[in-house]
Amino acid sequence: MPASVVVALVAAVVFLAARISVFLPIIDGKASVHPAVAYRWIAGIVVTGLVIGGLAVGNRFAWQAARVLALVAGIFLSFTAAWVIRDAMYTKQMPLLWPFARLIVQPVCLFTVIFSLQQRSARAFFRLICPKCGSAKWRTDNFLCTRVQCRGSDCRNEW
Ligand SMILES: [Zn+2]
Repeated sequence: MPASVVVALVAAVVFLAARISVFLPIIDGKASVHPAVAYRWIAGIVVTGLVIGGLAVGNRFAWQAARVLALVAGIFLSFTAAWVIRDAMYTKQMPLLWPFARLIVQPVCLFTVIFSLQQRSARAFFRLICPKCGSAKWRTDNFLCTRVQCRGSDCRNEW
């Protein structure tokens, strides 16, 4: 496994741990959450776990899904973090350290996942480099990316 994929996996696991840690004060009885929100969080944790499993075994669909989901969640969590910082500046009250650190760590992890999976070595690990011409450009018309077609110049190799 190339270093880029290891970095992506570590970042994804740290993100997952941060998501799971949200439940610690609730289990302790120090905080509560609406069941609808809790189910959404749990669904997010399950999806993240599945994507991490897929990445670890070199699944192409996991590579695709990880980048899309990390981008959407990363943008959303960046806005959340910015909103909390703005709020703290406005009220001149420091946000609680751990929840605040977690808010920063999550988008950082997600953008690390995206950046790492973009690397050529990561693409090679997911067999997304054309074996015939070495191009990293391809297209697919199947959702699970089980077959892709090269978009390199003059090469329409399918693999
Ligand atoms: Zn090719």
